[in-house]
Amino acid sequence: MLKFALAGNPNCGKTTLFNSLTGSTAYVGNWPGVTVEKRGGTYKNKKTGESVEIIDLPGIYSLSPYTPEEVISRNFILQEKPDCIINVVDATNLDRNLYMTTQIIEMDVPVVVALNMSDALIKNGQKINVEFLEKALGVKVVSISALKNENLTSLMDEAIKAAKSPREGKSILPFGVVDKAEGIYKNNQIENPLFHATKALENDEIEVKANKDESREVSELVSSETNKIDYEAKIADERYKWISANCTPALIGRPTEEKKKLSTSDKIDKVLTNKWAGILIFLVILFVIFHITFADDHFLPSCGGSSVLKLR
Ligand code: GDP
Ligand code: MG
Repeated sequence: MLKFALAGNPNCGKTTLFNSLTGSTAYVGNWPGVTVEKRGGTYKNKKTGESVEIIDLPGIYSLSPYTPEEVISRNFILQEKPDCIINVVDATNLDRNLYMTTQIIEMDVPVVVALNMSDALIKNGQKINVEFLEKALGVKVVSISALKNENLTSLMDEAIKAAKSPREGKSILPFGVVDKAEGIYKNNQIENPLFHATKALENDEIEVKANKDESREVSELVSSETNKIDYEAKIADERYKWISANCTPALIGRPTEEKKKLSTSDKIDKVLTNKWAGILIFLVILFVIFHITFADDHFLPSCGGSSVLKLR
């Protein structure tokens, strides 16, 4: 049975998609050793009868080892080797969500991008040029709405198709050192050489421990360069730059008035976080709290504060 993993940022709609795909076959447990929820289930293609195991990976913003969720997702992809990664992307937050996509495509694994929330995007008066995005990323992109069950069969058909042929990792980074670092890993027959080489350049904690020799060679390579570059910071920067230059133009139209309207909590935030009003409101709240706690009986006589005084 084929095995697919759903990967994406928190709140991009992974679990909604997972539920729509797996229905009553879903089970929930924990990832070993941590309290992070693990969801699995089976998708069945109605036409072909083909079954696919689906794993809903924890929501993450990158594949760096900053949180347990990031480590779980990264290890799952590298060790369990899913036949395809369905990278769920919130289409209404394209740039931010694609940051992780630029890392996923560095792995030697078939990838399909599911542009979720396309209903919300249309409501905003916007759309995404799917072909444009496909060309930039080099992987299939399918617009879906997990909430409204739209286009999910096409997504799964594309993912099943992608799973049937191997895919080699691709880097969007403009540094010559990436190729050289990848060569070091390839020579030593390490799987996913591009991904590991990039992580070594980023001075990634797990990478440095797991592949000591190769990552040391990479750091020697970096120090031998004449123009000293701090790749750790530079790589993140380049990912965002690449996205703005190559993917943002796929987004057509500006958000309509509907989107621009502030929600109630946005309105409250605007006042509470205002430079002057915010400080004033903070001081007033602080004063009220102190007053309630230490005031004499004439102020809020029934509240617990005055009994503090009485107790004394
Ligand atoms: P996860 O954190 O990636 O698992 O995201 P969830 O599946 O929990 O979804 C986060 C929120 O987005 C929920 O309120 C969903 O109802 C909503 N959502 C998910 N998919 C869609 C979609 O296709 N369209 C819209 N409009 N909302 C969606
Ligand atoms: Mg979820």
